[in-house]
Amino acid sequence: MTLSLIESSDSNQSIESNPSILSKSTMNFSRNIPVLAPFDLVVCGGGPSGCAAALAASRAGLSVLLAEGQSQPGGMATSGMVSHWLGGRTQLGEWVVGGLFRELAQEASECGCAVLPQLPTDSIYQPHGWLPWFIHGIPVDPFAMAVFLDKKLTSEKISLLYETDVIDTAVEHGRITHIVIQNKNGIQAVPARMVIDATGDADVAVLSGCKTVAGRDKDGLMTPASLTFHLYGVDHQTLAAEIESTRSPKFREKIESLRQKKLWPFPYDIFISVKLVQDDVAMINTMRLPGVNGLDAASRTSALIQGRQEAYALLNIFKEHFPGFERAEMKCIAPLLGIRETRRIQSEFCLRVQDLSEPKDFEDTIGFSMYGWDLPDPQKPSHQPLVDESNGKFINKTPKVLYTPVPYRIMVPHPVRNLLCPGRAISVERDVLGPLRVMAPCMAMGEACGMAAAEIVHGHATDVASVNPETLRQKLRNVSCIVDRAALPDNSPRCDP
Ligand SMILES: Cc1cc2nc3c(=O)[nH]c(=O)nc-3n(C[C@H](O)[C@H](O)[C@H](O)COP(=O)(O)OP(=O)(O)OC[C@H]3O[C@@H](n4cnc5c(N)ncnc54)[C@H](O)[C@@H]3O)c2cc1C
Repeated sequence: MTLSLIESSDSNQSIESNPSILSKSTMNFSRNIPVLAPFDLVVCGGGPSGCAAALAASRAGLSVLLAEGQSQPGGMATSGMVSHWLGGRTQLGEWVVGGLFRELAQEASECGCAVLPQLPTDSIYQPHGWLPWFIHGIPVDPFAMAVFLDKKLTSEKISLLYETDVIDTAVEHGRITHIVIQNKNGIQAVPARMVIDATGDADVAVLSGCKTVAGRDKDGLMTPASLTFHLYGVDHQTLAAEIESTRSPKFREKIESLRQKKLWPFPYDIFISVKLVQDDVAMINTMRLPGVNGLDAASRTSALIQGRQEAYALLNIFKEHFPGFERAEMKCIAPLLGIRETRRIQSEFCLRVQDLSEPKDFEDTIGFSMYGWDLPDPQKPSHQPLVDESNGKFINKTPKVLYTPVPYRIMVPHPVRNLLCPGRAISVERDVLGPLRVMAPCMAMGEACGMAAAEIVHGHATDVASVNPETLRQKLRNVSCIVDRAALPDNSPRCDP
């Protein structure tokens, strides 16, 4: 096959790019490349949505290749050290996301690489989250989780290529015919009948000519990035006692007082620490790096360099000023930068905040999320645009619903007909990313896309837009996915988001 690469239209848009390596011109690059064996489905990206998509499609009888750029599966939960699956389970332990998410969480907890917490209902301090009864998750050990997912994926006959980037596609008559990958073997093409873009960045959608948008409408700015790190030697009992006595889980007053003494040099004022699987280990998700363009290599590089320095600076401040952290040490810093937002596909349907103002059911609902509206302002890292700064309450237009539905249509890019896009790059108004971008609903999306791919490969639908929503929902119900509001837990406390 002959490959031609032309400069990407995204280059030169960096906020903090290094001018010396900005593109100056373009060149044509053409060569013959090997064509590998064909697959029914190529899944691009092995994060929560990609792993779930690959498993669901393989169980439905498809031959599946999963190509992942990092060295392990799990995406942000492993390579990004965001070791905390949110959005799929209530404080009382009831399931909001079923299917593969519940199966993986239960199996992972049985073999010790995740914990299914029973959370305290009567305390401010939440070991596995940061708000009583609402924002809490399933902690996972990132290293053991990678092994667990390796085993799960290989035992279900999924072909894996790690350290493999998807760099291009070949499209004919509105369908992707080949996925072009790059790894130690060089550049190769893989013929595919169906493709799932689980890169989080809609990389495959863009390479195939689909419409996307990136960042905030008015200026394209993206919500701040973070570099997550884990500490060991944390005394969670002491931390809990401090939070209970100050009733301040985010330590905002302490941070303000440190800032006044010039001991807190960062532009954010939030403390987020999550107890992980081992008793003394904490995931720190405090850092907010504004001005990062997650689609620009030079901007990402600057953020990684700054983030690693800031991780040690935060550790030193915690050791000195935050009870429970006196003996803490660095366990690991994520090798993958934490990017919350880049591109979103533009499908024919876009889920907007106003669509969700009341509990609503869509004819193509494939799952739900139980999480909040928390995408920070790109320039004010501790400010959420949906919060009124004068009183700290959510502004009126914010939906006061506990469960956010996920319609199938938001994963259908336009105009390519054999591509689906689950996960962080869905077709939503950007604030809707708040509840939907977390990992449990991403797995629900991946599972639905894997099953939809099987519908097409098996000839029950001609393309992604013609998949029958009720057939898909019934197939999801058959494997214990929660696709009906009536199946959601009803005895959880109501949320005032
Ligand atoms: C700092 C931070 C903290 C967060 N905290 C939480 C939390 O506590 N709990 C929670 O549930 N969610 C959290 N989130 C959100 C959540 O992690 C992501 O939104 C979610 O992981 C998205 O899932 P995904 O499958 O779409 O993508 P990802 O998890 O990002 O996975 C995408 C995968 O695709 C691979 N990839 C990308 N491009 C290519 C390519 N071209 N070729 C091949 N492979 C590619 C990547 O290496 C990656 O493994 C957080 C996010 C950030 C950034």
